[in-house]
Amino acid sequence: MGAVSTIVYLHAHPDDEASLTSGSMARAAEQGHRVVIVFATNGDHGEAPSDLAVGETVAARRRLEAQASADALGIARVAWLGYADSGMTGWQQNHEPDALHAADPDEAAGRLVSILDEEDADVLVGYDWHGGYGHPDHIAVHRIVHRAADRAARRPRVLEATMNRDAMRLMFQAARAAGMDTGDWDPDAPADDGNPIGTPEAELHWRVDVLDQLERKRASLRAHASQTTDVGMMLALPPEAFTMMFSTEYYIEPGRAPGLRSGWILDPA
Ligand SMILES: [Zn+2]
Repeated sequence: MGAVSTIVYLHAHPDDEASLTSGSMARAAEQGHRVVIVFATNGDHGEAPSDLAVGETVAARRRLEAQASADALGIARVAWLGYADSGMTGWQQNHEPDALHAADPDEAAGRLVSILDEEDADVLVGYDWHGGYGHPDHIAVHRIVHRAADRAARRPRVLEATMNRDAMRLMFQAARAAGMDTGDWDPDAPADDGNPIGTPEAELHWRVDVLDQLERKRASLRAHASQTTDVGMMLALPPEAFTMMFSTEYYIEPGRAPGLRSGWILDPA
């Protein structure tokens, strides 16, 4: 093993880490790297669980679930930027004063800079330019990550986690050909902001194999038990489909020469 790195992931909502990057997080932690997860928002516009206790908020429940997910992945620290969930594009909640969407971008970046400096972070991970599917909080994550990287005392290497649109299309076609019910899921359909999901393969840099971390990824998803629609749907996939969907994670590395390579983001270049 090479030198130990500190890798900081900024995710928009609790549960985004589970579906998008939990395999890489577990892999990094297994190798002894320090993995820090920062949530930009409290996720309070997620699904409200039916067993919410009197006085318990959705945000409080999701905070517990986020910690359980982090524990399953071996994450060293869970931190919060302190914003409220903005809801989907066009929702009235976009403009609530504590919503991330309404936040001053410099202030939001400043909150992340504090964490990067405390951690002396080597690597910072955010999202692609449209946050993978256009959710306002995910787009904000993209912007905050780049702004914070520019302002950190020591500039971290920046990666953007995303989905491989071409690989998703192949899976979608295979699922349909096998007669699976794909519901209204179509990787080429316009997502929340009108763009299709993820990034074309030609614009990606890293294909990371997380097959060995698949059970920990499943545990991370399971930790977000209140989100029965999204996360529940993923966990309900037949085992082969789950493996196909979740055993590979993709990253863009801005500034790196074009070309997708299979490898591990923390291996020396
Ligand atoms: Zn999200």
